[in-house]
Amino acid sequence: MLGLMQKHQLMISSLIEFAERHHGEGEVVSRRVEGDIHRYTYKDVGYRARRVANALDKMNLAFSDRIATLAWNGYRHLELYFGVSGSGKVLHTLNPRLHPDQIVWIVNHAEDQVVCFDMTFLPIIQAVQSRCTTVKHWIALCDADKLPADSGVLGLQSYEAWIGTESSEYTWPEFDENSASSMCYTSGTTGNPKAALYSHRSTMLHAFAGALPDSLNMSARDCVLPVVPMFHVNAWGLPYSAAMTGAKLVFPGPAMDGKSIYELIENEKVTFAAGVPTVWQMMLSHMQAGKLKFSTLNRTVIGGSACPPAMITAFNDLYGVEVLHAWGMTEMSPLGTVCTLKNKHASLNSEEKMKVRLKQGRGIYGVDMKIVDESGKSLPWDGKAYGDLLVRGPWIISEYFKGEGGAPLVNGWFPTGDVATIDADGYMQITDRSKDVIKSGGEWISSIDVENIAMAHPAVAMAACIGMKHPKWDERPIIAVVKKTGAEVTRDELIAFYDGKTAKWQVPDDVVFVDTIPLGATGKMQKAKLREMLHDYKLPGT
Ligand code: AMP
Repeated sequence: MLGLMQKHQLMISSLIEFAERHHGEGEVVSRRVEGDIHRYTYKDVGYRARRVANALDKMNLAFSDRIATLAWNGYRHLELYFGVSGSGKVLHTLNPRLHPDQIVWIVNHAEDQVVCFDMTFLPIIQAVQSRCTTVKHWIALCDADKLPADSGVLGLQSYEAWIGTESSEYTWPEFDENSASSMCYTSGTTGNPKAALYSHRSTMLHAFAGALPDSLNMSARDCVLPVVPMFHVNAWGLPYSAAMTGAKLVFPGPAMDGKSIYELIENEKVTFAAGVPTVWQMMLSHMQAGKLKFSTLNRTVIGGSACPPAMITAFNDLYGVEVLHAWGMTEMSPLGTVCTLKNKHASLNSEEKMKVRLKQGRGIYGVDMKIVDESGKSLPWDGKAYGDLLVRGPWIISEYFKGEGGAPLVNGWFPTGDVATIDADGYMQITDRSKDVIKSGGEWISSIDVENIAMAHPAVAMAACIGMKHPKWDERPIIAVVKKTGAEVTRDELIAFYDGKTAKWQVPDDVVFVDTIPLGATGKMQKAKLREMLHDYKLPGT
């Protein structure tokens, strides 16, 4: 017997319809490329997203055609999120931090028909245009009078001219919720980039689960600042969950420095912010230097790379801000786990609570996890056994776009490439990327643990631990360190700092001071590049 409920498809357009109707006055505030602050409401977002849909319909595009964006977090990008997917096209968010040759490859692979870009990225467009063979329309996200006469981009038009004459009347179509809605290429370091292709259904379910109290706990009382870019896994789904809950949205545009982010948080009364650790590092330095405090921020979700304990402590102890440590992947839309405490943790002292908060957290509803050994056998959830982490769920990929990268699933589970433990309460902790694991004397050393200790030293701005070949132990860890400006620490002082904080054999054999640690297009440390940088390095005593 079938249930007798209405069969509405889960459509991304329903999010903006809801936000317009129920939170029409809800604000969307953006720092623009021009530097000024733009503010309007969800009502305006809906109004202009429908104009986008009408403009796209006039372009003779097919259902599921890809429309690319090369843009910062901002209101026009948000309108494209709803206008493109809502009208049955696929929003393809390009990462401007990639090399132009990679952008060309990705645009051609995705067969993008239209590219919408912020003027900041005009030089990239000028460098790639002639090689992007499928693109028929180039649209600059600006007013008509901001368009340079000599842009050199054939057929370039401004976004405002493009949608300006369109009607804001549009009936969002209802179609199969399994239809593709958006796509994002992974930042994988080997082989060609591969794309995760999200559907309306997967995006909607992810938005529901992401907003839950034990996930990101979003509501109409929140003012949300996604510092995490809209070009990286849909800004962790925040634009969708914000529209679903009516939360005020604040976009930082291109200004990601500590001062600009801090001022935006204070001026707009942000309650909840989301970003990778490197962004928060810059903001905390700015705040510490100026002895600043927050007046409204109460929580921040940090993910993308392991959040150092020192950062969790600084947010909590100095500023009264709760850190939600989270983990996910492009292939997972991206949310997999969020670290929120259970009732049983309420009576723990702050040190014990910290031990829990450091973990990447519990699987959110919809994400099933397991850890396995080399033979694929499931390992116990005891917080000690570590193995390859596999996941499954309705917003996790089944295969990559165009079937590339073969069949990624193993008996229905997606191998994440991360190595982790899971404890009896279901809290998962990443110890490493499987390719970064350090094997010393037959034992594994977690590079993240080694880095976290170094990061707690007051003179250390960034630390990366890698394994170096060793004749006796197979590999030994060393730590590459960037010092904070004006701060001093010696090799021996830093090695001594590990005393009592970890087992002796897990203490790095050496410290290498470097000016920078290479970061990838999504802000992650690139250990392969670091190894290249240190190819002449020799471990002491070898
Ligand atoms: P991406 O697909 O670019 O978002 O990268 C996903 C990868 O980032 C994961 O497989 C992890 O290796 C890493 N990652 C994401 N969040 C965390 C976290 N909280 N702690 C440690 N690693 C993380």
